[in-house]
Amino acid sequence: MQKLLLSLGLVLTMSLSAQVDPKIYDIIDAVSEDRIRHDVKTLADFGTRHTLSDTISETRGIGAARRWIKSEFDNISKECNNCLEVFFQSNLIEKGTNQRIVKDVNVVNVVAIQRGTKFPNRFIIMSGDIDSRVSNPTDFTSDSPGANDNASGMAGAIEAARVLSKYTFESSVVYLGLSGEEQGLFGGQGMAKYAQDNNWEIIGVLNNDMIGNIKGVDGVIDNRTFRIFSEPITTAENDPEQLARQARARRFYGGEVDGISRQLARYVHKTTQTYMPEMNPMMVYRLDRFGRGGHHRPFNDVGFAGIRIMEAHENYTQQHQDIRTENGINYGDTFEHVNFGYAKKLTAVNAITMANLASAPPAPTNVGIGGIVEPSAKLQWNKSDGAKGYKIYWRDTTSPTWDHSRYVGDVSEFTLEGIVIDNFFFGVAAVGEDGHESMVVFPSRIVR
Ligand SMILES: [Zn+2]
Repeated sequence: MQKLLLSLGLVLTMSLSAQVDPKIYDIIDAVSEDRIRHDVKTLADFGTRHTLSDTISETRGIGAARRWIKSEFDNISKECNNCLEVFFQSNLIEKGTNQRIVKDVNVVNVVAIQRGTKFPNRFIIMSGDIDSRVSNPTDFTSDSPGANDNASGMAGAIEAARVLSKYTFESSVVYLGLSGEEQGLFGGQGMAKYAQDNNWEIIGVLNNDMIGNIKGVDGVIDNRTFRIFSEPITTAENDPEQLARQARARRFYGGEVDGISRQLARYVHKTTQTYMPEMNPMMVYRLDRFGRGGHHRPFNDVGFAGIRIMEAHENYTQQHQDIRTENGINYGDTFEHVNFGYAKKLTAVNAITMANLASAPPAPTNVGIGGIVEPSAKLQWNKSDGAKGYKIYWRDTTSPTWDHSRYVGDVSEFTLEGIVIDNFFFGVAAVGEDGHESMVVFPSRIVR
C-alpha cells in the first residue's frame, strides 16, 4: 500500500511539474535522415538556385527549384487529406534596389500552412532558404549547389512538414521556403509584410540557415552542439518617445535580455534539453553572427519573435565560394560536406519546438509584477483561452535560463512567498493539455 501511495504521489508530482508528452518522442523518431539527404541532393542538383538565375528551365535555376519545393509540399498535403495550404508568395524587387539586384526580379517564396484547429490565425513558422550563391554575389549562372547554405534548412522545413502533417495542432504551423536571402533578405521582408497585411499573429519564426556542417574551419568536429541566435529586445517600435519610455523602464525594472525573441530562444533551449538530452543547445546573445545576416531579421524588424538556428562550427571554405581547388583545399558548398545525421537532429529540434508551441495555449497577456519593499514577489496576468493553468518562472539575474518554476493552477494572480523581487527575474507561461506550455512572458507593468 505504501508503495502504491508513493508511486501515486510521484505521478501527481510529475503531472504538475515535469510533464512530458510521449508524442514528442515519436516526432523525433519520425524525422528521416535519408529523406533530408535526398532533398538536399535534389536541391543541389538544380545547379544554381541564385535568386537571379533562370526561372524557365525545368532542371536548372531557382524557378525549377521552387516549383519542385511546391510540388513536395503538395505531395505531403495529398498524404494528409489536403492538410496544407500551399502557395507562392511573390515580391517584385526592382533593379538597383541594392548592388546585388542587377535586374528586376520576382523574389518568390514557397509557403505551406498547416491550419490550426483552435487558433487558425496563430502561426509558428519554420523557414529555410531556397537561394544560393558563389563568391561573387551577382554571379547567377555559375554552379552554386548551396548544399549546406541553405539546402539543409530548406530540406529540414520540408521534412518537418512530412512529420508534423501526421498530427493536428491547435495553432497553425507554417513551413516556409524563402528566396532572396543572399541578395539582401528580400524574401523574409516580403513574407513579414504578407504576415502583417494578413494580420497573422506570429508566435515565432525559427529560421534555419546552415544546419548540416559539423566540421569547423578550425578542425573542430562536433555533431551535438548547435547555436540559437536571438536579439535581446525588440527594436521594432519606431516611435522615439515609446523607445525612450521602454529604455527607462528597463533601467529600473530590468528586461534588457528578455525580449520576445530571447524567450523563443529559451523555449527552444529548454525543449531540446527536455526531449533531446544528447544535444547541446547553445544560446548566443546576439541577433546573428557578428555583422552577418539571416532571414529572421526582417521578421524581427517588424516586431515578430524570430531566431536563427544553425550549426555551431562553420566552415568558410564551403560558404559563398566558387567551386575550385586551391592549395589543396576543396572550396564550395557541395553535397558531400553535409552531415545528414546532424541535419536530422536539428530538424527534430524545430519539429518538437513547433509541436509543443502549436499544442500550447496562447501566452498570458498583460503580465504585471509587484513586491517592492516586500518579502514576496507578486505576479498578475490576463488568462488565456484554453489554458488549464499557469506557471511562474524565475531565475537569478545572471542566469540565461528560467531555472526555477512553480505551477500555480488556474489563477490570474499569485504571490511567491519569501521570494524577493530584487534578486531574480520573473515571467509567466500558460500551461495546456499534456503539459504543453506557451513561451514565458516577461512582465510589462508594475503592480503597486
Ligand atoms: Zn549564405
